[in-house]
Amino acid sequence: MLQDQEVHAAQMERTFIAIKPDGVQRGLISEIIARFERKGFKLVAIKLVIPTKSFAQKHYHDLKERPFFDGLCDFLSSGPVLAMVWEGEGVIKYGRKLIGATDPQKSEPGTIRGDLAVVVGRNIIHGSDGPETAKDEINLWFKPEELTSYTSNQEKPDSTPH
Ligand code: GDP
Ligand code: MG
Repeated sequence: MLQDQEVHAAQMERTFIAIKPDGVQRGLISEIIARFERKGFKLVAIKLVIPTKSFAQKHYHDLKERPFFDGLCDFLSSGPVLAMVWEGEGVIKYGRKLIGATDPQKSEPGTIRGDLAVVVGRNIIHGSDGPETAKDEINLWFKPEELTSYTSNQEKPDSTPH
């Protein structure tokens, strides 16, 4: 039989979110993390990495035919990227909502790109676009042992004596 923690881990949806080099260098890490935290999503993995160009090409393999692919991969590998995994009900779709449209000119105010970015080539953040890509991207960026699984104190009954 599955333990509580395993049931929890098996059921909970996860997505891959990355703050791209422009977001890191503009000092937007705390601002972006705060929006996911305040919504109520749970951070289960995080690390700062400078991806190689071939790693960036793997990450963006779906876009390899696009004219901006080479520049995009050069950019992603140009500096530190904050790679994260966030967990919660509906986090894949709602994470994209928090991020806003790909082109910041079309992102609604109130979204991360709408509030904090201006051009598509410098739109500061990446988020998985569906369950399959979320799984693939989490596996590409993180080793299984880097992913934590925990029940937050808010989710537990208060057992401290009064
Ligand atoms: P996302 O899922 O919203 O990030 O968008 P896509 O998966 O379609 O594209 C990946 C990334 O490629 C975007 O976040 C942009 O940084 C970049 N990108 C997408 N479309 C364009 C474009 O038309 N021009 C340029 N320069 N970059 C683009
Ligand atoms: Mg995408």
